[in-house]
Amino acid sequence: MANAEDEETDRFERHEQAEQNKQTEQTEQRWIAATLERLSHSQFRTKFVLSDKDRAYARTKGKAVINRHAHEMLHDRVGAAEPKNDGKQTPWRGHPVFTAQHATATCCRGCIEKWHHIPRGRALTEEETDRLANLVMAWIERDLIHHPAR
Ligand SMILES: [Zn+2]
Repeated sequence: MANAEDEETDRFERHEQAEQNKQTEQTEQRWIAATLERLSHSQFRTKFVLSDKDRAYARTKGKAVINRHAHEMLHDRVGAAEPKNDGKQTPWRGHPVFTAQHATATCCRGCIEKWHHIPRGRALTEEETDRLANLVMAWIERDLIHHPAR
């Protein structure tokens, strides 16, 4: 009897957790959509597109690898409280994530502060890095969808 009840509680908690995850995921997706919408009003940000080489690279490597690169590059280049060469640390081209960073205003701490309201002078939290990486990935995916492989 006690066991059946435990199982019931277990199932209930798993269900709760799943619901919560779903809601967090929906909140994230809404934030990404709203942010991409905001960025679409910036003439400077909207002029960025991936090069053919970037697109081929992203398709060959696949989403999981590019996602890992996005996390690593954000962590290494803009993650610290005072990143090296801040404002000039993100090349204009050479990797799809670089271009996506300029397009999504995740290129330096000044742009991150202005567009995403994360203050300068402190390290990014893991959550913030995840969130910005998700934004970068959403931008890359959208560029790929708009430019199907020939
Ligand atoms: Zn910047």
